[in-house]
Amino acid sequence: MNRRNLANLGILVVVAAAIIFLSWMSMNIWGSNKVETVQLTSLQYNKNLTLKEFAKDNKLPEKVVSRIFNLKQTSELNKSLADFPITQQKLLLKTNEALAIYAESLSKNWTKIFVKFLLWFLFLALVYVLIRKDKINAKNRKWVYLISFVLFGIILGSDPSPMGTIKDAITLYAMHHALFIPRFIALAVFLFLVVSVNKFICAWGCQFGTLQDFIFRLNRNKRDSKGLVKQYKVPFAVSNGIRIGFFVLFTVVAFVWVFDIVEYVDPFKIFNPQVVNVAGWVFIGVILVASLFVYRPWCHFFCPFGLFGWLFERFSFIKIKVKYSDCIACDACSKACPSTVMDTILKQDRTVPDCFACGTCISVCPTNAISLAPGKREKVPEGKFDKK
Ligand code: SF4
Ligand code: SF4
Repeated sequence: MNRRNLANLGILVVVAAAIIFLSWMSMNIWGSNKVETVQLTSLQYNKNLTLKEFAKDNKLPEKVVSRIFNLKQTSELNKSLADFPITQQKLLLKTNEALAIYAESLSKNWTKIFVKFLLWFLFLALVYVLIRKDKINAKNRKWVYLISFVLFGIILGSDPSPMGTIKDAITLYAMHHALFIPRFIALAVFLFLVVSVNKFICAWGCQFGTLQDFIFRLNRNKRDSKGLVKQYKVPFAVSNGIRIGFFVLFTVVAFVWVFDIVEYVDPFKIFNPQVVNVAGWVFIGVILVASLFVYRPWCHFFCPFGLFGWLFERFSFIKIKVKYSDCIACDACSKACPSTVMDTILKQDRTVPDCFACGTCISVCPTNAISLAPGKREKVPEGKFDKK
């Protein structure tokens, strides 16, 4: 192992240790609202019971009973079970579904969630303005990533996250047949951010995405145009193939075996170290080290939201565009791009992979032919990149 590799690993260990320690302190300050989901296998049932008595006999909070029977007012708890024609089996299913949603709701710190979304909007708007004014560049790019994961990860925690909205929605439905509406609202907001500015929530707001990007930039030269120690661009067909396979596996296992694979290795838990198990630490360690050499390995190989974001980013209103009349076909942008995406945007000759709107291509272009701007991409002029 050469000295540069050792230095990179040393910095990485210090960064990881600082994140774990500070996140541990932060989680202690916020406190944990984790509520175990209780699932019943049978119910105390007698159709002459009032709903209030039914709640008491089965130790159910009245809110849960109100949800099961869609009650509008608490006075309706005095109605009897006979007023609601429902089989006992269906009642058990609805009770477990309502219990799962109740536990989800109790486990959330709604004030923190509101503050986090507000800050996400403000921060992303600021980053967009700075990119447009060419103020985010090789010198300061990694510090913007650092601010992002400190704010949205260390200080505001692992939850919510773009990844969690999809993963938890699938597992909650697979395990308890429950749909938690606030999660779908969060997912809609994240997808709105994806289609507003190309994958912008992943690019600059996701706590684990920006941490990986920060680590990747630690191993870059001063121009942020290539790795100090060699960095690798994995063919998109390979990384996306693995990502699709992982998503299918995760979904099938959740529905068939009622088991959440991602929960055991969830790298976002680096911001909630109290709950990480041994497998989780090993996986997080591998992803963080790999981030020095491969761009955002978790996003490209595993993340369920990464996959959905990639599907939606083709509809993005604001995206990386090339002005071909200014482009001198020097390839500086595609060489400096951390992945294979700029090459596909430039030449339009194959599927466009995930673009994390980092702006590296903009900063290295010698003729300012690239921008993050609204509207459709220009078509590449015929023969523009033919070898001379
Ligand atoms: S793809 Fe990356 S940046 Fe986007 S949600 Fe997943 S981890 Fe975060
Ligand atoms: S195309 Fe440009 S903005 Fe997108 S990932 Fe590559 S360098 Fe970053």
